[in-house]
Amino acid sequence: MKNMCQSCGMPLSKDPKNGGTNKDGSKSDKYCSYCYKDGKFIDSCKNPQEMQKLCIDMMTKGGMPRWVAWIFTRVIPKLERWKK
Ligand SMILES: [Zn+2]
Repeated sequence: MKNMCQSCGMPLSKDPKNGGTNKDGSKSDKYCSYCYKDGKFIDSCKNPQEMQKLCIDMMTKGGMPRWVAWIFTRVIPKLERWKK
């Protein structure tokens, strides 16, 4: 689970900005720049299912088959952001 965004599951090494930013401007080592900015989540997802759907939509728009996108996103409910 390390080195992957704890919100969307994207490997942080694939993040062009090397991660989101904390409130004090430092880099987040947990969340990617697509999910997290200035200490807040950019999206308004309330549960892992919404995030999963968002990611699948984004990947299929990029030309990825839906089942492949699903495999990439099935880790999302296990990530830190969604743990209660
Ligand atoms: Zn993310």
